[in-house]
Amino acid sequence: MTRSSPPPIHIVGGGLAGSEAAWQATRAGVPVVLHEMRSVRGTEAHVTDTLAELVCSNSFRSDDAENNAVGLLHEEMRRCGSLILRAADAHKLPAGGALAVDRHGFAAAVQQALEAEPLVEIRREEVTGIPPADWDSVIIATGPLTAPGLAAAIRQLTGQDSLAFFDAIAPIVYRETIDLEKAWFQSRYDKRGPGGGDADYINCPLDQAQYLAFLEALLAAEKTEFKEWEASTPYFEGCLPIEVMAGRGVDTLRYGPMKPVGLTDPRTGRRPYAVIQLRQDNALGTLYNIVGFQTKLKHAEQKRVFRMIPGLEEAEFARLGGLHRNTFLNSPVLLDAGLRLRVMKRLRFAGQITGVEGYVESAAIGLLAGRFAAAERLGLAAAAPPPTTALGALLAHITTGADAKTFQPMNVNFGLFPPLPEGAITRANRGERKPLVARRALADLATWLGERAAAE
Ligand SMILES: Cc1cc2nc3c(=O)[nH]c(=O)nc-3n(C[C@H](O)[C@H](O)[C@H](O)COP(=O)(O)OP(=O)(O)OC[C@H]3O[C@@H](n4cnc5c(N)ncnc54)[C@H](O)[C@@H]3O)c2cc1C
Repeated sequence: MTRSSPPPIHIVGGGLAGSEAAWQATRAGVPVVLHEMRSVRGTEAHVTDTLAELVCSNSFRSDDAENNAVGLLHEEMRRCGSLILRAADAHKLPAGGALAVDRHGFAAAVQQALEAEPLVEIRREEVTGIPPADWDSVIIATGPLTAPGLAAAIRQLTGQDSLAFFDAIAPIVYRETIDLEKAWFQSRYDKRGPGGGDADYINCPLDQAQYLAFLEALLAAEKTEFKEWEASTPYFEGCLPIEVMAGRGVDTLRYGPMKPVGLTDPRTGRRPYAVIQLRQDNALGTLYNIVGFQTKLKHAEQKRVFRMIPGLEEAEFARLGGLHRNTFLNSPVLLDAGLRLRVMKRLRFAGQITGVEGYVESAAIGLLAGRFAAAERLGLAAAAPPPTTALGALLAHITTGADAKTFQPMNVNFGLFPPLPEGAITRANRGERKPLVARRALADLATWLGERAAAE
């Protein structure tokens, strides 16, 4: 049998996770059939038919591999030959210390790479139920907006109710409508990013009176009514609507998305009382999104309240904020360490549906699922990455580490990593904990990749 002859792995969903899984499987020489429904059936959030479309923000978050867990995850994925990171790096935009991308260029690059790969067949079709028995290796990567037929079939098969909660979208403003007499360009602490300079954000300053008036308006503004099924659904803490955060205390926003640290208003030479930041959203630099301002205010109220922000008085909005459903499995109960459904092992899951949160985390679990499925197909051991790596820590959390009773979607963070060995942190290096964890991760990843290469 030649390396290109095994039967295909079927991947359902050509988003961040499914696209990465397909790429990884074909790197190992295993063919893939990628089933993507868009062009036949849309979702509530996608607006194109392109694979790996980013439905909201254009940011992959921090690219700092030494001090930030998602930056470390980027680096690990690069070292694993990730298609998603390759396309992101090729289409990055100025964004301070973050890895932000031109969403159209990024998605087109992912699609072109998969279309050009001879081992990939892309089928534009909806998978409406549990895949047929002759698909003996399947990766389900249908994301937070899994089509209802498949979602119902999974619920029936697992006997567990998938949970639903809100993902809230932040508004986008046309750059030319921002008043730069009041707002100014600066990155926090003038930090230089991977794709740009040290002044990638537009900052709108508020003094104390403006901040308090803004807070009051946020709290009093009319919110979108909940539908019955939504009313009892909890928010994910990492994606709280701005008005919910505002309701938690007078200073909550000033210590959260409106924090002024590392910023100096050039007109006063001082740090403002509070700041609202906007980040570039497209390659042309014509659109800026209001960072951290996901919201469920009614559209007319969003315009009224956000135009109270100094510099945004005349703002025109390319997109207003909104609310969205999420669907995810209770993975600690349902999945094994190789992401296989315990009750039907030919089915693997990947992406947001496994209970990770975010573009990068979804793609990371796709990367692992693709590698695991390919190794299994080739009769090789599918060893998981060590839990000391970001990939391994995330995988371990969703499959074994998390408490199944309270399982909620998770971003990668340093809290998921095992502690450093006793004595590793001394008085001299105690500020170096994160870089030390990161260095250990990359060293352990290299060993894992070396071991895998030797096995293949
Ligand atoms: C509205 C919204 C906003 C979000 N904003 C952000 C954000 O700003 N930043 C961030 O990091 N994360 C965000 N997320 C969370 C998450 O990271 C993204 O949804 C991410 O795209 C998940 O990747 P995925 O591959 O799991 O799913 P997706 O990228 O959604 O891919 C799933 C694919 O499966 C297809 N599909 C679904 N059902 C079927 C079927 N039955 N048959 C065939 N194909 C099917 C879909 O069309 C889609 O292409 C957001 C999520 C939502 C819903």
